[in-house]
Amino acid sequence: MATNGYEGGLMMIEELTTNAQQIQDEELGEILSRNAGTEYLRGFLHGQTEKQLFKKNVPIVTYEDLKPYIDRIANGETSDILVAEPVTGFYLSSGTSGGQPKLIPVTAEYLKKGPLVGTFSESPTMRHFGDINQAGKRMELMFARPEIETPSGLKAAIFSTSMYSESKFRTNLPKLYTSPIETIFCPDPNQGLYYEVVKVGSLFASTVLRGIKFLENHWQELCYDIKTGRLSDWITDSGCRNAASLILKPNPEQADLIESICNYKSWEGIIRKLWTKARYIGCICTGAMRQYTTELEFYCRGLPLVSAFYACSETFCGLNLEPLCKPCDISYTLLPNMAYFEFLPVKNERDESFEMKSNDEDTELVDLVNVKVGQCYELVVSTCAGLYRYKVGDVLMVSGFYNKAPQFQFLERKNVILSVDHEKTSETDLFKAVTEAKALLDPLGFILTEYTSYVDTSSAPGHYVLFWEIKGKEGKHCKELDPKIMVECCSRMEESLHYTYKIYRKRSIIAALEIRVVKQGSFEALMDYFVSRGTSFSQYKKPNCIKSEEALKLLDSRVMGKYFSPKSPL
Ligand code: AMP
Repeated sequence: MATNGYEGGLMMIEELTTNAQQIQDEELGEILSRNAGTEYLRGFLHGQTEKQLFKKNVPIVTYEDLKPYIDRIANGETSDILVAEPVTGFYLSSGTSGGQPKLIPVTAEYLKKGPLVGTFSESPTMRHFGDINQAGKRMELMFARPEIETPSGLKAAIFSTSMYSESKFRTNLPKLYTSPIETIFCPDPNQGLYYEVVKVGSLFASTVLRGIKFLENHWQELCYDIKTGRLSDWITDSGCRNAASLILKPNPEQADLIESICNYKSWEGIIRKLWTKARYIGCICTGAMRQYTTELEFYCRGLPLVSAFYACSETFCGLNLEPLCKPCDISYTLLPNMAYFEFLPVKNERDESFEMKSNDEDTELVDLVNVKVGQCYELVVSTCAGLYRYKVGDVLMVSGFYNKAPQFQFLERKNVILSVDHEKTSETDLFKAVTEAKALLDPLGFILTEYTSYVDTSSAPGHYVLFWEIKGKEGKHCKELDPKIMVECCSRMEESLHYTYKIYRKRSIIAALEIRVVKQGSFEALMDYFVSRGTSFSQYKKPNCIKSEEALKLLDSRVMGKYFSPKSPL
């Protein structure tokens, strides 16, 4: 039977999900037969490849456990200490280790999975919206980030940058997308955004919002440029200028139309009004991106938000088979041919009966097809590129099954308390930065007594806000605090945060960090609030990140001063 692209993709999904167990066993068999002889696995398997031995002997690990092996490869040792196939490069994960991005090994076998994903990842969406490749172009906001080189000369780049560098992507770009390649690789994301359709989207919801905010600030200028066919002077990147000059021709009618739409008082539904043929907005809307969906829904009023897939640098994970469902109901179906997936049961706040073993080693990992609906799990993957029983750090909840493959809702990233975009800041990262910054107060006779934080996304880009309660030593009052010192504390915090934060700050993906100094007794009032809501007094733990609107209002009503970091830390 002849099938077009997406029908073929749908058939493939049927086949994969129906035979999930068998495909998972084959996946693991392949990983072990190739890699059982590596230095790492030899220590646990002694050259054997049985699944039972793998389950019994190979430990559950985090990046930190594999880091010494990965670093050795990055420093020039042969790959086969970890993976039999040569490592050809690394993906830079947005997760960090010791302040540096994690390096995820990439091999030829790993890269073979890419085109496979390409063939079916959009199939469920196209089932609803038709083959958009045939209908028009995509206005996607895409930004490449600079590559780095390891001491052994291997390249490390974030996943999307590697994708934009591929020759197939570059060949298809003019046919499928509105953006020229020069804007994607432009080092200044604002100049890249100058550009402007059947699909509007980006990888993440936060980027689509950034695009809209950019338009809000620049639409008059853009309309003028379209009217006159002249490019704004601040577009100085030569690649961007040249590419734009090829497209930009004087078009007063189009400029007038855009101007009249942007001139509306309310920007509700602006995306739909500007791109009248857009069928949907495509971007990840779950996990850390959930905080942006309400605002995005306002701008796209009526156009569906489609969060099509769930993936990480370690492996592609799953697809959303119901692209039209609401962001809060999205589930991803894990694809059994991407990696060998196991699941570490974790306590679901709603499940009182669940008893967690004292450490992960004592908790049995569950196979993909054996997970239970309603139960929460941490995702553990083994891949063909040298990760074995590796905890990705994501917590998922099983929402159902599609054929034999489970479907998961993304619950949270473990140990991440702050995230504006794709960066992940843990309690430890925050504690370290606060410790560095508060050292500035000490010699001046002030002590930081309490702190907490939250991500403020009320303006774009979002930024980190720290609430600080400060006490003066020896009768000093914090009103005597020099504002310059507080500004310096903001800077010091930013300098002390991890690499991904600093890069995002430099690229204006995150706005300046803010410290709000609150009155004495604010944190006591915060505790009273939580106790009044049912938290036991003796078990109260001050949250390091505020999630409740009420608690936020309480602290905000006690703010005495607001201070911002004056410059990017890089
Ligand atoms: P990275 O390794 O930098 O590519 O980041 C991958 C991480 O981004 C995943 O482990 C998740 O925490 C998060 N992520 C990716 N896709 C989704 C999604 N669809 N929903 C929620 N979080 C996601």
